[in-house]
Amino acid sequence: DRPTEGNITLTGSDMNDLIARDRHALSRRIQYVFQDPISSLNPRKLIRETLAAPLRYLRGLSGDALNQRMAELMDAVNLRPEFLDRYPHEFSGGQAQRVGIARALAAEPEIVVLDEPVSALDVSVQAQVLNLLADLKKKFGLTYVFISHDLSVVEAVSDRVAVMYFGRVVEQAKGRALFDKPRHPYTRLLLDSAPVPGKRGLTVEDASAELPDPLSPPPGCAFAPRCPRAQDDCVAKVPDAHYGLENHDAACFHPLNPVTSA
Ligand code: SF4
Repeated sequence: DRPTEGNITLTGSDMNDLIARDRHALSRRIQYVFQDPISSLNPRKLIRETLAAPLRYLRGLSGDALNQRMAELMDAVNLRPEFLDRYPHEFSGGQAQRVGIARALAAEPEIVVLDEPVSALDVSVQAQVLNLLADLKKKFGLTYVFISHDLSVVEAVSDRVAVMYFGRVVEQAKGRALFDKPRHPYTRLLLDSAPVPGKRGLTVEDASAELPDPLSPPPGCAFAPRCPRAQDDCVAKVPDAHYGLENHDAACFHPLNPVTSA
């Protein structure tokens, strides 16, 4: 899809230009891991067929080279080679997600977009998959775009975090800085609302608080109807991201923990 506004650049080149020039080359550079591991695999295909497709069509492999690469990929995600001749329904959720990761790696990408990759898994299995992802990132020099609603998972995996509200990035910072000193009131609300083991009672807003209606967006800052810091200027125009000295951006006129010059 073409963006309705703005653009996406990859190593300095506009994504639309890259798509127009060579869609195949872009497919090799960016791959995906999906949220529901079992349903993201074709139930009628053996894992061998699922893994062979990107190797054949994106890397041009066949014969022994293809078989050898499949064995390497299974090894990289800690799955036994005999699993290649099984169907998706024969796997647990964690194993199926390892297959999904192997399929993404088959193209030898630079970037992997992981859309809620552990949210469908048992919590004890989540840790195994997150550790595997961390190892693979180091081993293959990957960049992850990791999408999640689970703040503890985000904190565990991220170098840099972007918080989105109503379709816009409202805060962006290094992981530690964002969790230690959030600047946007929505980020503060997210952190206060997250259930944490051992924490009694959760901060909850007024029960009538709702997300804005996308068909009739509010004027100015989309968070204003829910924001305890809202002032008159918040509804007059949409706040841009402010770039602070610590490269900690918040799209807010009255941020928390403001970054000041020395
Ligand atoms: S711009 Fe105003 S309403 Fe929006 S988050 Fe900041 S203080 Fe709240």
